[in-house]
Amino acid sequence: MAQRLLRKVCQKCAEKRKITKNELDNFRKILKNLPSRVKLESELNEESVVLEARGCKECHNGYLGRVAVMELFEITDEVEKLILKSPAEAELREAAKHAEMVSMAQDAVIKILRRMTTVEETERILGSL
Ligand SMILES: [Zn+2]
Repeated sequence: MAQRLLRKVCQKCAEKRKITKNELDNFRKILKNLPSRVKLESELNEESVVLEARGCKECHNGYLGRVAVMELFEITDEVEKLILKSPAEAELREAAKHAEMVSMAQDAVIKILRRMTTVEETERILGSL
């Protein structure tokens, strides 16, 4: 399954800012098909706050540690059977189509909104959102 490591933003020195209009539109588009089992802790709106990396003595250019973003899908019986047979990724992908999938971009946006990483870091690793 696809997974990427993003740098975690340092909580000591990060600066808070409101999301831009562009980011809001983008995030809304990305989260539109988010499976209902995934809950955002706070509503996504004009007042949503994200973090911006700064840098202090305790971190590296505003980042400290890593966080994984990944595609996730609910393990259905069908998928579980496939995993037990240790299937090729292609087979799993096929099965995943029938499950409710969380895309890597969706997982990344959720982690931005949870203030674990930044928009800049996400775009550096995943490309523009
Ligand atoms: Zn810091």
